[in-house]
Amino acid sequence: MKILAITNQKGGVGKTTTCVNLAASLASLGKRVLLIDLDPQGNASTGSGIDKAHLKLSIYHVLIGEQSLQEVVVKSEKGGFDLAPSNRELAGAEVELVNELARENRLKAAIANLGDAYDMVLLDCPPALNLVTVNALTAANAVMIPMQCEYYALEGLSDLVNTIKKVRAHLNPTLEIEGLLRTLFDSRNMLAQQVSAQLISHFGNKVYKTIIPRNIRLAEAPSHGVPVLYYDKASKGAIAYLDLAQEIVDKQNISKENKHG
Ligand code: ATP
Ligand code: MG
Repeated sequence: MKILAITNQKGGVGKTTTCVNLAASLASLGKRVLLIDLDPQGNASTGSGIDKAHLKLSIYHVLIGEQSLQEVVVKSEKGGFDLAPSNRELAGAEVELVNELARENRLKAAIANLGDAYDMVLLDCPPALNLVTVNALTAANAVMIPMQCEYYALEGLSDLVNTIKKVRAHLNPTLEIEGLLRTLFDSRNMLAQQVSAQLISHFGNKVYKTIIPRNIRLAEAPSHGVPVLYYDKASKGAIAYLDLAQEIVDKQNISKENKHG
């Protein structure tokens, strides 16, 4: 089971858009997908067609140890995947967990309980390097970093990479950065082109080949509570996320082959 944390402490870089649309695209390729919303904003829940205001149970109850993950999971009927939803209540978890034992391991333990019910688990992180994000990095076996190719993009990246290194040293020795994803990309913008070239020269094949273009359909789809694939499947945004899903599946197949000699 692949557990992919989609994270960047910078806000508005396309984490949630990537989670919802990648989940739907992977599901359309036949994968069994669970999306876990780890942001009190609950945008991944809304974008998956789940009404976050009227949740009885959410990921908050899992992290504080009141419920198992299975008990809070709902179906995104429109997206074809399962979802562990979130809402404002999650903001309290940070404080409530401060004095708890093994507080960084809550999510990892909850996911371990799922057995092999899923092929892919996607973790939508909040825009912060907080305890919830550390839980995601501890549970994950790979990290995806969505980023906008702009002037300050690389600055924040070093803080994130340092956090990942710390988690690897103390909590999760096999954690790997799978890739950097270029999002909200405008190919006519010279600066975006330059930053993109810089990313490739620093990170080489850790930059996903697929680029997510700036596409209005991606911004519109959440207000209809559906992934873009079910809103406008011919849009550039829908095609890009299908390409990304295929790239990730291919990467996983290659790493499996390497492991088995
Ligand atoms: P936060 O840090 O607040 O959780 P985020 O990193 O999850 O934000 P999103 O919520 O996915 O970012 O995207 C921020 C805004 O940009 C949203 O309004 C979204 O609809 C829009 N958006 C994201 N990706 C694209 C894109 N490729 N093209 C056009 N609009 C996009
Ligand atoms: Mg988000």
